[in-house]
Amino acid sequence: MNIEQPGRKHLTGAAETTELLRCEYRMITWTVTQKQRLRELNAPLNLQNAAFSSNKERDGDFREQEIMLVKMGKERLNLLRGRGRRPVLCELESELVKALIDAGFVQVVTPIIISKGSLDRMSVTEDTPFYKQVYWVSGNQCLRPMLAPNLYSLLNQLNRLWEKPIRIFEVGPCFRKDSEGSAHLSEFTMLNLVELGLSEEKCPQRLEELAGLVMKAAGIDDYSLVPDRCDVYGKTIDIVAGMEVASGVTGPHRLDTRWGIFDPWVGFGFGLERLCLVREGYQNIKRVGRSLKYLDGVRLNI
Ligand code: ATP
Ligand code: MG
Repeated sequence: MNIEQPGRKHLTGAAETTELLRCEYRMITWTVTQKQRLRELNAPLNLQNAAFSSNKERDGDFREQEIMLVKMGKERLNLLRGRGRRPVLCELESELVKALIDAGFVQVVTPIIISKGSLDRMSVTEDTPFYKQVYWVSGNQCLRPMLAPNLYSLLNQLNRLWEKPIRIFEVGPCFRKDSEGSAHLSEFTMLNLVELGLSEEKCPQRLEELAGLVMKAAGIDDYSLVPDRCDVYGKTIDIVAGMEVASGVTGPHRLDTRWGIFDPWVGFGFGLERLCLVREGYQNIKRVGRSLKYLDGVRLNI
């Protein structure tokens, strides 16, 4: 009899028996509590999936690994004390802000509480799925789920005051009732940049350049640009680095005239926690978001 298993070579005779025995022999895995603890301590995946030949071997290994992972966590936390290090989300934000300012973008800071009217103008109305993700603070005001309405509004005014191209960006909190999971937070940090007033035929190339600029500053070179769709804008160009980290759009867009915008533009919305997740190789976004349980990616119950 031969054994055919994915990823295994074809085995015969004695080799087959030895392999079978070896597999059966190492079938003991972590207990649920041990696995949960290893996840919290950011153990690498191969360690989380390890198998053992006896409970004694497993429990001994667990104690050793836990001590080592706790030590690593404490060392990382100590880097925050008097050594000039800040949590990865803050470090990344500073790096991206610097890169964009060096590239001629102007940073803007706009309100976190926005009006229902501004969402209406983005076509986010009661009948849309996106509307159901919005946190309302009163009948007419909500926590912004995106930065675009505020940036549209500023562009409309700066358009009168500045020569084109106009390049602005904002970094700040956004809020969405999103499906809980390893890539979604209900409060996250968006970086939205927009360049208005370039020629229409240059838009696709400029979008690529801006993707390159931000991804380089974020220290992530393994990514691709992938066409996608979203409810608000229709066609998007996403930046995918294992997961979507940003969505880009080019205008003129059908929403523009509602905001008094008539020139071509390009823009990207990046999720900073997603960029941190990819850069640090973490498995769960909660590790890098605003948190009372984690600090700079380290679980505090160590
Ligand atoms: P997804 O399809 O992954 O839910 P999205 O397409 O709805 O994301 P966009 O509206 O394109 O998100 O927002 C721009 C970026 O903001 C996303 O590419 C992502 O990096 C980030 N982002 C969006 N929603 C969340 C969230 N709930 N938690 C963390 N980051 C988010
Ligand atoms: Mg998107």
